Amino acid sequence: DVKIKNDENPLDKYIILPELGRGSFGTVFYCKERQNNMELAVKVVGYKKKKEKIMMETEINILASLHHPAIIVIYDAFDYGNKLYCFMELIQGGELFDRVIETDFVLTERACACFIRQICDAVEYMHSKRIIHLDLKPENVLCISKQGNRIKIIDFGFARRYNPNKNLQVMFGTAEFSAPEVVLFEDIGPFTDMWSIGVICYVLLSGLSPFVGADDYETMTNVSFAKYSFDYAPFNEISSVAKDFLAELLVKESSNRMTAKNALKHEWLIQLDSLSPGVTLSLTKTKLKRYVILRRWRKAALSVIFINKLNKFSNSHFLKNCQI
Ligand code: ATP
Repeated sequence: DVKIKNDENPLDKYIILPELGRGSFGTVFYCKERQNNMELAVKVVGYKKKKEKIMMETEINILASLHHPAIIVIYDAFDYGNKLYCFMELIQGGELFDRVIETDFVLTERACACFIRQICDAVEYMHSKRIIHLDLKPENVLCISKQGNRIKIIDFGFARRYNPNKNLQVMFGTAEFSAPEVVLFEDIGPFTDMWSIGVICYVLLSGLSPFVGADDYETMTNVSFAKYSFDYAPFNEISSVAKDFLAELLVKESSNRMTAKNALKHEWLIQLDSLSPGVTLSLTKTKLKRYVILRRWRKAALSVIFINKLNKFSNSHFLKNCQI
């Protein structure tokens, strides 16, 4: 089992190469193990406060306790120079939504069910170990390769160990994929992940986001009402069994929401192997392309706003210091 090493410099063992991606907490780099040239990915999180350190330690310890084909594998971890390093397997296929909008990818209901079944399987495993992910969203589902349809769930930065006898509320996540109990600051649990799977599945099948609003506040209001509709053109191509699957997940009352175990027993996922691929969801694909581009733009714009705010903050801080 992986334990965090405190007395070794990770750079003695690994060469850190170009950046692969950046999240709100850490930066992920491509890297190689010096001894055998094995390619890996490393998430590096610099911490200033104890709280930040504990968060990353929790992520590492949770990942180290999970062993499932659709969950990212952790190899090594270091706490060195006020930074935590989490070395994990390198995933080369990119984000799930980027893969499905590629021209050569044939998007069918069966393909969607195949991805969702793997997510449910990994989440059922996690939940059986009393771990909840709490940040399931398209960016955190990566494809193993550009061929095939195997996926891995990443980013356990918000994951928690769950005690059914203790109440737990959280105030984080991505509004668009967050469950009503999150935005209403009510008790969360394994069911919170199942809502997010419902939203991911809705977007995958239609290219439309069920609760997104003009801003986070509007999105959170929409989520709190839990009202959605299948009254859009892409759903004309979608089977009623798939709609039923969604309807069992997008349930406001968390105790009535389908569990991961039951999702795997739902007809939509059970019939998958015998299901004919079905029609190509071309309207969904067009909408999904637009969705992916818009989401990326929004994220980039948000980071610019954030940087501007930070600049303003540091300028005023600087001015204040000058006056002193
Ligand atoms: P968030 O803001 O979503 O919480 P984060 O700071 O926790 O993000 P991650 O989501 O873990 O960071 O990683 C950031 C990005 O790095 C991912 O979106 C992905 O593109 C890339 N990435 C992460 N892990 C891997 C990996 N094992 N292999 C390849 N790319 C990866």
